[in-house]
Amino acid sequence: MGERVPDADAIEAADDKYVMRPWTHPAGEPVIIARARGCVVTDIHGKDYLDLTAGYFVNNAGHCHPRIIEAATKQLGEVLQVSGKHGTIPAVRLAEKLISLAPRTINKAFFSTGGSEANEVALRMARQFRKKPEVAYLENGYHGMTLGSLEVTASEKYREAAGKPLGTDNYAVPTAYCYRCKYGPHAQCKVECLDGIDALFDAHPNTAALIAEPIQAVGGLAPPQKWWDRMDQARKKRGILLIADEIQTGMGRTGKMFAIDHYGLEPEILVGGKGLSGGVGSLGLTAAGTEIARHFFGGTTPTSGGNAVSAAGGLAMIETIFAEGLIENAVVMGRYFTEAAWALKDPWIGDVRFTGLLGGIELVKHRETREILGKAEMSKVKDHLHEQGMLITVSGLHGNVLRLQPPLSITSQQLDQFILALRNTLRTVRGG
Ligand code: PMP
Repeated sequence: MGERVPDADAIEAADDKYVMRPWTHPAGEPVIIARARGCVVTDIHGKDYLDLTAGYFVNNAGHCHPRIIEAATKQLGEVLQVSGKHGTIPAVRLAEKLISLAPRTINKAFFSTGGSEANEVALRMARQFRKKPEVAYLENGYHGMTLGSLEVTASEKYREAAGKPLGTDNYAVPTAYCYRCKYGPHAQCKVECLDGIDALFDAHPNTAALIAEPIQAVGGLAPPQKWWDRMDQARKKRGILLIADEIQTGMGRTGKMFAIDHYGLEPEILVGGKGLSGGVGSLGLTAAGTEIARHFFGGTTPTSGGNAVSAAGGLAMIETIFAEGLIENAVVMGRYFTEAAWALKDPWIGDVRFTGLLGGIELVKHRETREILGKAEMSKVKDHLHEQGMLITVSGLHGNVLRLQPPLSITSQQLDQFILALRNTLRTVRGG
């Protein structure tokens, strides 16, 4: 148990009165965090939570890692921010580092202030380069909440919330939701879901790019290699650029630096965000090959793009991930998590999907029918886990996936704590 902040109730009342959120939050939320270290966050009442959200998939090296704090603090005494016309040492070094870790098709980095903005820049870059307006995106894809990134985000609910019809220059292509595949057992997969992809691309000759997460974070959907091979071949044949959105999948989360590395994909544009700043402020990355970079025109830059303190934090985060073997730990802990979840043999556990520490557990009413566990039960599961000190989020196309993405530094003992809480939770909620 941590320490209770003396004016905790007043802070909560002020949050309720003055802070705007784009949804009605359920009972027990928001959790207002006063302190965070490693994989544990402490709320203003002194309650500790194991953070299976990593501050929304940002703090991959753990909260407040001393190395990141030291690098950011040192930078605070040097220079904070200069115009995007000029540069700072950490921003140059971060660009150099990222390019050294990216595939050979990616040679130059442009920094903005967050993921949605970085995707908007990617769309603009692709359209400018190919002089074509359309962009294909994956069904179930999420690329942000600004108007441009919403145009390539699949969720009708999110799109409608834009308040005006979104542009019609974009269209969805099939994704690989193998657990709910319409075409039969996985072992016999012939990638039938992509049988129509050539015709679809041909029907849209003005397609500049395909934007996709290599592994979809919404629901943790990792396509088989042959799915990506076929999709990649179809888009390449037509000169369609691949924009790889690695905002959530990058920075070691999937057990490789980037999720494209699982498939040998060589995108023409690579987008990053979240952990890129080490949790110090926020950064967006749009990186591309030399030719695309040469054609890139923006006229101006985002005022705070690539600020020096965030860049110093991001560099320190990358160094930490490698120094502490956290990418390898993500692989080992992802496997451990998978085995431990299956070992519960709980009838509500329909599927366990982890690539490294990206993914989660899909809950169903019956394992045989795969009937989706309803919203009411899902929210009870979430509330009960919170009560037991497990901070999680719910995700997935049908809202029935427990998204479990802790810092990559998590230990097997901490995962055991979560598994025990999950066991109690599922039994309790099912019991009434
Ligand atoms: N793309 C993906 C895949 C994401 O997960 C997110 C953030 N959840 C975004 C884009 C948008 O990033 P941001 O919230 O920093 O604008």
